[in-house]
Amino acid sequence: MNKKVLDAINEQIKHELFSAYLYLSMSAHFEASGLPGFAKWTRMQAQEETEHAMKFFDYVNERGGNVVLKAIEQPQAEFGTPLSVFEAILKHEQKVTGLINDLYAIALEEKDYASQVMLHWFIEEQVEEESNSQAIVDKLSMAEGNKSALMQMDHLLGAR
Ligand code: MG
Repeated sequence: MNKKVLDAINEQIKHELFSAYLYLSMSAHFEASGLPGFAKWTRMQAQEETEHAMKFFDYVNERGGNVVLKAIEQPQAEFGTPLSVFEAILKHEQKVTGLINDLYAIALEEKDYASQVMLHWFIEEQVEEESNSQAIVDKLSMAEGNKSALMQMDHLLGAR
């Protein structure tokens, strides 16, 4: 397997696991704040991020490369309002989109066609991640300060 692509994928495995860690920390915050629906949504998102990491993990193994797990940074533990958390989620997902794009650029440069095809899934996934978090930011912006709207939102997110 191409060395540059392999190194970049190993880095991306770390980023995906950090995402899982970050969402899990948000989930703990929502649990502690009495918002079980928000807690469930972010917890499920953490699971999804772990699956993203495992998709890369399986791909590297399939291609005969060596997975090297890197140290995962401690995520923040203090959070503000649900709106500010989802604004942070949107910003985080935009950053991840940038990382996936950078990875794709390396696969292009290295003429690693199989990795390009594999990455198409992630490129589409990021469109969805950004759109989902943007939609929640929009709803929370409208609900700002309205407790019953927030409770409705908690119920809605808990149905995920
Ligand atoms: Mg991800």
